[in-house]
Amino acid sequence: MFSSVEEFEWNYKEKLESMHGKSISESSIQEQYETLGTMIREYISEDWLATSEQYRLERKKQVYYLSIEFLLGKLLKSNLIHLGLRELCESGLNKLGISLATLEEFESDAGLGNGGLGRLAACFLDSLASQNLPGHGCGIRYKHGLFDQKIVDGYQVELPEQWLKYGNVWEVRRDDQSIDVLFGGEVEAYKSKDRLEFRVHGAEAIKAVPYDLPIIGYHTNTVNTLRLWSAEASSHSSNKSLMKYKREAEAVSEFLYPDDTHDEGKILRLKQQYFLVSASIQRIVDSYKEQYGDIRKFHHEIAIHVNDTHPVLAIPELMRILIDIEKLSWEEAWEITTQTISYTNHTTLSEALEKWRIDLFQPLLPRIYMIVEEINERYCKELWKKYPGDWRRIENMAIIAHGVVKMAHLAIVGSKSVNGVAEIHTEILKQREMKLFYEYEPAKFNNKTNGITHRRWLLQCNPELSGLIRDSIGDDWIYEPTQLDNLLKYENDESFLNELMLVKKKRKEVLENYVHYTNGIALDTDSIFDIQVKRMHAYKRQLLNVFHIMYLYNRLKEDSHFKMHPRTFIFGAKASPGYYYAKKIIKLIHSVANIVNNDRYINQFIKVIFVENYRVSLGEMIFPAADVSEQISTASKEASGTGNMKFMMNGALTIGTLDGANIEILREVGENNIFTFGLTADEVLNYYQHGGYKSSDYYHHDSRIKKVLDQLLYGLFPLPRVEFEEIFDSLMSYNDEYFLLRDFSSYVKAHDKINHSYQNKREWATKSLYNVAKSGFFTSDRTIREYASDIWNIQQRSFHHS
Ligand SMILES: *Cc1c(COP(=O)(O)O)cnc(C)c1O
Repeated sequence: MFSSVEEFEWNYKEKLESMHGKSISESSIQEQYETLGTMIREYISEDWLATSEQYRLERKKQVYYLSIEFLLGKLLKSNLIHLGLRELCESGLNKLGISLATLEEFESDAGLGNGGLGRLAACFLDSLASQNLPGHGCGIRYKHGLFDQKIVDGYQVELPEQWLKYGNVWEVRRDDQSIDVLFGGEVEAYKSKDRLEFRVHGAEAIKAVPYDLPIIGYHTNTVNTLRLWSAEASSHSSNKSLMKYKREAEAVSEFLYPDDTHDEGKILRLKQQYFLVSASIQRIVDSYKEQYGDIRKFHHEIAIHVNDTHPVLAIPELMRILIDIEKLSWEEAWEITTQTISYTNHTTLSEALEKWRIDLFQPLLPRIYMIVEEINERYCKELWKKYPGDWRRIENMAIIAHGVVKMAHLAIVGSKSVNGVAEIHTEILKQREMKLFYEYEPAKFNNKTNGITHRRWLLQCNPELSGLIRDSIGDDWIYEPTQLDNLLKYENDESFLNELMLVKKKRKEVLENYVHYTNGIALDTDSIFDIQVKRMHAYKRQLLNVFHIMYLYNRLKEDSHFKMHPRTFIFGAKASPGYYYAKKIIKLIHSVANIVNNDRYINQFIKVIFVENYRVSLGEMIFPAADVSEQISTASKEASGTGNMKFMMNGALTIGTLDGANIEILREVGENNIFTFGLTADEVLNYYQHGGYKSSDYYHHDSRIKKVLDQLLYGLFPLPRVEFEEIFDSLMSYNDEYFLLRDFSSYVKAHDKINHSYQNKREWATKSLYNVAKSGFFTSDRTIREYASDIWNIQQRSFHHS
């Protein structure tokens, strides 16, 4: 089908005709896209089948990565690159008068996630397949992914996202693999022989229908599977009115993160979690049994990973199946479960630690709740033996306490491995957040520093830079990205460094074009592109960035001798729909942008841009265009970050706190090639623990800070005083929880250094080179290899490059 351009052309025309009954000239872009996608899906179907067949024949242990989010982005381009077919398709389509880029552009982002956690899951699938590892994803096929963001008058407006509007060419619906998931009902205990058994009466079934997506490895014939479950009405249910039942069933996979400010939304969220977990584990057990038979060896052949606590009901669900259906004893079931499951922690923010109220949990999942209760009782007894009389400690470690189920505790107790996502994060877990658990079972805890797939985040999104790298050091880095450090031999090569800066300039022009078109503002591509893109959150401190801009504005206004290299500050961020404070910061960025961008004088030095609807495909345009990467979270708050790695890999220099993976970036590039500032994590945590911080001192003693804060309330924006009052109050009345005022002055100094350093083009280019050259450590291939050997114990299948 794809062996020559001519053959492709012929087949494409044929396919378009058979699918849509149209000639090329009559067809729409949507039909052209669908035709190409279908051809590719059919082309890989043989490898897809062969991959699972070979896993089976070689009796490879399989890992299933359970995640409530998979932030895949677009798939057409990466699939073509991975298959090595992109150039051929491009030429073939060209001859037919079709632009491949247009079809790639047409595709919707699969936005089944919020941010870092979901994107990590997507990078991991890519790294599993590309390294021929038997690993698959299990998730939910949300009808609507993360909302589309519109900005109206500086305020965020959320629109329902519609990625399935034209269907999804990559998915295969597998009706034969559908399975019922049960909710509610009453648990009945009964005696069978000598055993106490349990069954549930009057439960309501929701049918889980899997849609399988192929995950295509890079230049290999491995094709793994991402299975996304969709909720439908089951034929086995209901006493309710059929329409109402159908609506309620389908609601389970309707939205990513339904509004959970009310109990109804909370219950729906818990339903989603159990829906994902139960459907996945039932099917994993079925297919295991079909191949191996003996359930007692399950953990030898299967590993199940839970990405954060959302899928942690995998633990009691596997227990339920092993005990109630497979009739194992509690002890046998517990041994198998705790040898199968592993867990990654992604945050220490207390508001993100999941706790489920018993009065919501128990009625929805009565048998599961019973099992969690028993896990808790047995665990507390065990603790009592080790710490007799230490009630306080046991209460703090219990899974159920004060009317709630603590999901992180369940995850730790029921897993064989608990990992953090960057060195400092894992240390904080061990020394603080999870200290008691670490003392009890130190061997369970380990670090796996996050990574990103260098295929999407360098090879695909930055062809100019990958081209330059290939021309200089060849292709080995694509298979082993630590080879990128061979680039360091060009450290003193003027013409190479010029090329590197030319590539950057080109990528800035691409972004300039987009911003010019969407925001109607022309940018100076000789200015420093200083970029902060990530979810909007107080701890990520976009506000600190804004304060720095306001300070520069003030300084330029006050001191006509003050000059700076022109800067373009670019923001992109969605705020959670219910996160009022984050939305205020979006409004503030727009208000500052209005002042700055419309001031003739200031305008020569600063511009402020907010790009709407930040998402994976937009990131692919943004990261390559950055000179400066803003990674300025309050130290100790950002578990790892992965945006920081994407910027670095594309040659941006980081301005960052000693937080998350920034610390490891510093270690890789050395202190000359990064701009660090601010409190350390220990200093922050000590403030939290012992007090001693008074934000008003900084307001009163630093006139720069006072001026900026006062401007929030009056004198700068043509807005009522109340508009930014909450922001002012959070810093003054509530003592600035995230230490913006404390870090302000060292942040300004770091920016001064950037300004100074950029004056010397050659010096800057060398620093940029170091960032690219040392980014290999942050490939998710490395991360996945660590998971594979230390946690999952899985092996590559035998393969050949294709
Ligand atoms: C990488 C990525 C993130 C994570 O960014 P952080 O800076 O690590 O928070 C969020 N959203 C998208 C679309 C991404 O690609």
